Amino acid sequence: MADLYDVRGLRLSLADMTRKPLFGAAPRLEILKGLDFTIPQGAVMGIVGGSGSGKSTLGRVLVRLLEPSGGSVRFDGVDITHLDEAALRPLRRRFQMIFQDPMSSLNPRHRVGTLIAEPLKLHGFDDVAGRVARALDHVGLPAGFAARYPHELSGGQRQRVGIARAIALEPDFILADEIVSGLDVSSQAQVLNLLEGLVRELGLTLAFISHDLSVIRRLCSRVMVLHHGVIVEDRATADLFDSPQAAYTRELLDAIPLPDPDQVWA
Ligand code: ADP
Ligand code: MG
Repeated sequence: MADLYDVRGLRLSLADMTRKPLFGAAPRLEILKGLDFTIPQGAVMGIVGGSGSGKSTLGRVLVRLLEPSGGSVRFDGVDITHLDEAALRPLRRRFQMIFQDPMSSLNPRHRVGTLIAEPLKLHGFDDVAGRVARALDHVGLPAGFAARYPHELSGGQRQRVGIARAIALEPDFILADEIVSGLDVSSQAQVLNLLEGLVRELGLTLAFISHDLSVIRRLCSRVMVLHHGVIVEDRATADLFDSPQAAYTRELLDAIPLPDPDQVWA
């Protein structure tokens, strides 16, 4: 299969304002230190690593909320590394992001129907009402939820709204950043099952950021392990769990008690 993303020598550095001298420029903080990887069309790519390893930063580069400091990012053959906002606009619909905390990403004063409709209108879709209804149906929420406000929903239901909002746009790629981390185990399982079904049904490519290896193992076909802004491993999920190559991967596997995935996710 063709690669949806082709990333070469990706670097990202930020000005470290905490160490900025009174006069002169702040020193640069290297967050991503030359990453090479591809995400094949239709893959479910897990991105795992400890806190501060650069997972969210990498995710924000993939959906071009951040501009790389070096290297290149190609999306479906298009070099998006340094595209400006006007050039990105027609592409933005095609790569969507679902956030960790739906409460902070969903406007609390808007009803669910409006929240899903907004991006559809922004991207010039027709039949917005019909698309909102189908998106709710896809994520297993009753049509009546369109009239509800985010605070009237459970955490799992809010995360479904986040997913509905993304898939309504018919994207090629979804980036999910720690989207089940705030949920209890049974809501986690429901959201992951939903996501897994949608990926298959809609032919999506998914990058799934998590610090939880048992979640990654359940969902992902490939896993990339990040450590201090460097990829220490990038392999098929089964290989990685059977014979982790990098010392850091073995540390991660040892540190986290891995329950039998069949038992947890049955
Ligand atoms: P992760 O998602 O893996 O926990 P992040 O990508 O959020 O990691 O962060 C990687 C590193 O970059 C961390 O050390 C973090 O402190 C730093 N960082 C992220 N965003 C900024 C920022 N806007 N300014 C300064 N440092 C940042
Ligand atoms: Mg993060």
